[in-house]
Amino acid sequence: MATDTPTDEHGLPARAQEVLAAVPTGLFVAGAWQPAASGDTFPVLDPATGRELVSVADAGPEDGMRALQAAADARSEMAESSPKQRYDWLMAAYQAVTERADELALLMTLEMGKPLAEARGEVTYAAEFLRHFAGEALRIEGGYQRSPAGDTRFLVMRQPVGPTLLITPWNFPMAMGTRKIGPAIAAGCTSVIKPAHQTPLSMLALVEILHEVGLPAGSVNTVTTTHAGVVMEPMIRSGLARKLSFTGSTQVGKKLLEQCAEKVLRTSMELGGNAPFIVFDDADLDDAVAGAMAAKMRNMGEACTAANRIYVQEGVAEEFGRRLAERMAALQVGPGTREGVTVGPLIDQAAQDKVGELVADAVRRGAQVLTGGEADPGQGYFYPPTVLTHVSPQSRMAAEEIFGPVAPLTSFGTEEEVLELANDTPYGLVSYVYTRDLDRSLRMAEQLESGMVGLNQGVVSNPAAPFGGIKESGLGREGGALGIEEFLEVKYVGIGGPRPRAAAQGDG
Ligand code: NAP
Repeated sequence: MATDTPTDEHGLPARAQEVLAAVPTGLFVAGAWQPAASGDTFPVLDPATGRELVSVADAGPEDGMRALQAAADARSEMAESSPKQRYDWLMAAYQAVTERADELALLMTLEMGKPLAEARGEVTYAAEFLRHFAGEALRIEGGYQRSPAGDTRFLVMRQPVGPTLLITPWNFPMAMGTRKIGPAIAAGCTSVIKPAHQTPLSMLALVEILHEVGLPAGSVNTVTTTHAGVVMEPMIRSGLARKLSFTGSTQVGKKLLEQCAEKVLRTSMELGGNAPFIVFDDADLDDAVAGAMAAKMRNMGEACTAANRIYVQEGVAEEFGRRLAERMAALQVGPGTREGVTVGPLIDQAAQDKVGELVADAVRRGAQVLTGGEADPGQGYFYPPTVLTHVSPQSRMAAEEIFGPVAPLTSFGTEEEVLELANDTPYGLVSYVYTRDLDRSLRMAEQLESGMVGLNQGVVSNPAAPFGGIKESGLGREGGALGIEEFLEVKYVGIGGPRPRAAAQGDG
């Protein structure tokens, strides 16, 4: 049962005002906090109430270019820093984030809405990327080999890509940042980070920590803005940046790829998903229900990895639906700062409206509502945990990201049938499979068209694993050993000779 903690007159926990007062609200350029050149600011809203929390600098194109110039100016200093120095910076940032985890979690909940326990989980996850990439900084390898004919030598080295542009979404305001900032610093790249306008505060707090650990001025810069396209496009087209790493929607990602083509920027694209969650009738049903809860309800369903289509084999479909609906109905909806709440508000009005439209469309096409299905008309952008059965594969929600706490169930007969349904999407981020049959597990893992598969597991995210999608879900991988490769260029040096020993001795 949700219980109230002491709050101020706006219903915020007393500690919230202190945390909000401490967060920097400017642009961070060349090692200093500063206002936008225009002096403009924009409000950051609390999705639980729609009220303003604080306002932050609203950058224009000239601010963006200033930040990129600072990153370009710091390029050599950063590239020449030693691996040990980069390790020390990242480990110091890891320590600081870990020590301040409670206040960072509260800040995240205030701007993004997720329950405090989940925000705390994200802060830990975000910090782990810093620790992981601290280690990677020490492991940047090269190679030395003889050519096949033995007449030359190959020296292969890895060098930082150079100034990078990092664009992050609102749903994981800190972890999507450290997943890029960690490898950028580890590789010796400078950066300009642009967080989403709904959730800039977590990033501003993180950048202040990076400042405090002594990174060189200009190595990390950040701009907050409500004009993302107008600010980022000149930076992308300028030729000063050498890489864009983007996490966000496929629609925006495609536009950015076109812009990157002009100067042939390296790109990493972590885009949208439409994850199938498949339960075979031989699965451990308790595990499958628990996995579905995690895959669906992490972040209130506002995750690229969220189970978007749940396919259950006919023999267990009814029982699975009943158990899932029971678990979903027991969740506590409310402001993420309130104790006991397990489902916070959606990010904004548009998100709440979209989820409502998708549910109405599915119901029009024959879906049955087992629980939820109706938005709360009160303040804040809440939507109740919802389970639908008999969802038609023609429904809009089978093709679009729901990004909300709605679990759509569709039953299936055979493995072939579900494989065809699962792969019938332009997305390919992650798929989930529950079965106890080893042969089938491997067949499914091999044939599902996605960059990641959760096998009897509802969460795949892990800083030490290569996260990423195929098809229209993206390009490149973040995390794991591959994550740093995205920030490194490979240079090959062909070495002439060596001359035979006798010829060399004749030189004397
Ligand atoms: P979004 O609308 O694409 O925005 C993502 C970021 O791009 C924001 O910082 C946004 O800034 C910025 N942006 C928007 N238009 C831009 C433009 N024309 N030029 C440059 N930047 C631009 O996505 P979102 O709604 O924030 O995030 C949800 C999406 O992200 C979902 O599709 C989800 O699946 C995907 N996602 C993918 C992963 C993954 O790892 N694959 C992880 C998390 C989320 P403003 O918000 O300030 O406009």
